[in-house]
Amino acid sequence: MRGTIELAPWAVREGNSRGRLHPEPPPAVRGEFQRDRDRIVHSTAYRRLQYKTQVFVNHEGDLFRTRLTHSLEVAQIARTIARALMLNEDLAEAIALAHDLGHTPFGHAGQEALNACMKGHGGFEHNLQSLRTVDVLEERYGAFDGLNLMFDTREGILKHCPPARARELGDVGARFLQRRQPSLEAQVCNLADEIAYNNHDVDDGLRSGLLELDALRQVELYGRHEAQALAAFPGLSGRRLVHETVRRMIGTQVLDVVAETGRRLADAAPRDVEAVRRAAPLAAFSDAAARAQQALKVFLRDHLYHHWQVRRMTSKARRIVTELFRAFLDDPRLLPPQYEARVQREGPRAIADYVAGMTDRYAIREHRRLFAVGET
Ligand code: MG
Repeated sequence: MRGTIELAPWAVREGNSRGRLHPEPPPAVRGEFQRDRDRIVHSTAYRRLQYKTQVFVNHEGDLFRTRLTHSLEVAQIARTIARALMLNEDLAEAIALAHDLGHTPFGHAGQEALNACMKGHGGFEHNLQSLRTVDVLEERYGAFDGLNLMFDTREGILKHCPPARARELGDVGARFLQRRQPSLEAQVCNLADEIAYNNHDVDDGLRSGLLELDALRQVELYGRHEAQALAAFPGLSGRRLVHETVRRMIGTQVLDVVAETGRRLADAAPRDVEAVRRAAPLAAFSDAAARAQQALKVFLRDHLYHHWQVRRMTSKARRIVTELFRAFLDDPRLLPPQYEARVQREGPRAIADYVAGMTDRYAIREHRRLFAVGET
């Protein structure tokens, strides 16, 4: 039987969803949101996440997070919170696994470069690109472009959207014009994303040697949980102490979201998901947890994202993305034929799609093929 898991009144369910753009017969044994999750896992864009940067370029080390392992961690955290709040876990998982599908190679440096290249052509934003990937770019089905996902999955993927684009996007853009919230499942995914990257960037930052433990201990969130880990395991040190600290940080943040969201739900008592969409944001950190999280973010920005060795990587990334885009714009005949044909029809947007779809190593190779004499 489908839908046997008990859901809260404020959860998204198949029966209150606006469904798919192209009507399809219901799946035989899965739920509709399971089908969405499965379509995402089988997509080409999803497999590419394996070779896309989170903070460290893919070839810098085998143990650093990639967009794929990041997305899996987001899904894990989102599912835990969703289940505790009796939300639609399949939907939360689908949103989490798809939320970064539109990322360019080389993380935020790549996105900023591509956005600058697309100035005057509608810009580039990874969030909109994630939606574009599942709505248009995936070519897998006979009857439609994209993955034809449920409305609520698409709504959750589109985290931000400027008003001009929102108008073009129809139903899924409407909430940005009406200043409404997405479902709780989508709100939870945003928080799970933050919890995941703050904690794994601490772990990867330490592993890379760019972050120093003495400095990190001054951040209250880290210091407090390291003290707890040491109280439980006196004398613990090295990687085990880092892991015992980080797992406690994740646990504290997850429990905080469950408790604070539970309080807000008890106050607002939304009757259904439409009431959730009309209400102020209901999924949230407590004020104290939000402050602790913010202090960690500032630390990571100053000590990791702005570290000179990371800056070298981001500057290289910017150059690669910009030069690739310009070369293709100057002469679309350098593109593989199917993309060249799309540039004739759709203009620079098709170049942005091609560049955005590249993995880190594909972009590096493509750059070498185009710019290094003697390479083919
Ligand atoms: Mg993310």
